[in-house]
Amino acid sequence: MKLAPYFAALVGGLILSTGAPMNLSISNAAAGEPEERLAAFMRQYQEDYTKMYQANSYAWWDAMTTGSEEAFAKSAEASLAMSTYHADAAKYAELKKLRAAAVDATPMEKRAAYVAERSFEESQLPPELMKEIVELASEIEQIFQTHRAVYQGEERTNNELLEALEKETDSQKRYEIWDALKQVGEVVAPKMVELAKLRNKAAQALGYKNYWEMTVSFQDFEPAQLIAIFDELDRSTAPYFASMKAKLDGELKEKFGVDKIRPWHYDNPFFQQAPASKAIDANVFYADKTKEEIVDISVDFYDSIGVDVRPILANSDLYEKDGKTQHAFCNDMNLEGDVRILCNVKPTAEWMDTQLHELGHAIYDYNIARDLPANVRSACHIFTTEGIAMTFGAKARDPQWLVANVGVAPEKAEAAAVALREQRLREQLIFCRWTLVMTYFEKALYENPEQDLNKLWTEMTERFQLLDQPEDRNRADWASKPHFVIAPVYYHNYMLGELYGAQLRASLEKEAAGDPKRFGELLKTKVFAPGASLPWPEFVKESTGEPLTSRAFVEEVKAADAATK
Ligand SMILES: [Zn+2]
Repeated sequence: MKLAPYFAALVGGLILSTGAPMNLSISNAAAGEPEERLAAFMRQYQEDYTKMYQANSYAWWDAMTTGSEEAFAKSAEASLAMSTYHADAAKYAELKKLRAAAVDATPMEKRAAYVAERSFEESQLPPELMKEIVELASEIEQIFQTHRAVYQGEERTNNELLEALEKETDSQKRYEIWDALKQVGEVVAPKMVELAKLRNKAAQALGYKNYWEMTVSFQDFEPAQLIAIFDELDRSTAPYFASMKAKLDGELKEKFGVDKIRPWHYDNPFFQQAPASKAIDANVFYADKTKEEIVDISVDFYDSIGVDVRPILANSDLYEKDGKTQHAFCNDMNLEGDVRILCNVKPTAEWMDTQLHELGHAIYDYNIARDLPANVRSACHIFTTEGIAMTFGAKARDPQWLVANVGVAPEKAEAAAVALREQRLREQLIFCRWTLVMTYFEKALYENPEQDLNKLWTEMTERFQLLDQPEDRNRADWASKPHFVIAPVYYHNYMLGELYGAQLRASLEKEAAGDPKRFGELLKTKVFAPGASLPWPEFVKESTGEPLTSRAFVEEVKAADAATK
């Protein structure tokens, strides 16, 4: 789960459309049948779209690899040009009219026109209001960046506090560090509520009930359908989570010498990740490798499923250097085969995971049929490409994969197998229950920003994560999570990626019957090639044989639970 440009574009698209429409005019459609006029409109649109898309991604790439101010300015300009283009109300109205009239257009033409129309719709927010939202959001972001919590009378950075929490064995001190990590929440909470109200006002201007409803709709979800998936996920994972947590808490009670485990006993202040396993450290499998060998392993592995990643790596930026971003992402630069990843590879399990993850995104983009209309020549949905990326990333800690690809001795992998599997199960369940908190809380936040949010946060973390929160703590702990500002109404996509990944693993592995090349071939033809030519519900059905549900994910959980008991 890394910051990718399409992610930034999605957020940016919503917050950057502040300027007046630029005069990038589409020629007045030729007279004739509505189908012909729609086709003419879309031809021009695809040409403009491709140009803007390419300018945007090359500028973004420069900014990310050099860090130069000039590159950042160019990137912001390119991104603004994209949203300004789509803010043109006249063009939006024309497309809407043509699309409604062109009943005999082909399904592909209809799909591309629909996707274009949604891009225009997203950019119709009132410019004055958008300006206010952008300014308030960046004010809050700046507080997150510059705020220093006070712990033991001294100012500390977030990273210092996180490191301290990992090492501290005294429960009272752990509480104080945990509390310090939440201090920023009290500072930003009133501004966050104000931002939620402004975002709601913008959504209401477009005819939506609130910002949550608008944003999920722009991500092509029916609110009720999305919530039904999460309700089911809640019901079906609750017992496995409870038994996993009871065991984990037992280990922690012993470690800290306490009889009650509180939220500050987990190393992650939100309990969104599992504490490190005391039984296995996956880094041992990579300690004797060089960073170049980590890349070689990824090439050989993808070769083994019949997918050549060399053309991708040829343009990629793989190792640390000055000025370069420390994150990792993948980007399709031009929609014509220049697909790249950016990493900072080191010989660790985390970077092996990331290298495989970003290449998972990349092989998806690279194998999308190039004859699709440009604006649907992308992954079907953010969650489908995340599902692929997470599936491959998880290989880095898979015992069989370590033997076949990293040269780990079978008996060594065998000895670690149960511990590796248990740790993965913990990660999956803990992350799953955390995404339930984020999804339901954010929905409630926008439905009523004036309710008692501190109380709601306590209730939800107790209900979904089974946390034992301190009595009478009336603090804005929720507001210490920056995602509400920087990536609003986005978290559910990570979990849907997990669900889609599990569903795909179950169906494709069955169909490939143990033949890795066949597995790769199925990925290319069934998953990658169609791009965004189908709406996601249909695509999920076509590529996995059933609608998106939590069933396959829960089955994996159930099997791992049984195998590690
Ligand atoms: Zn990702």
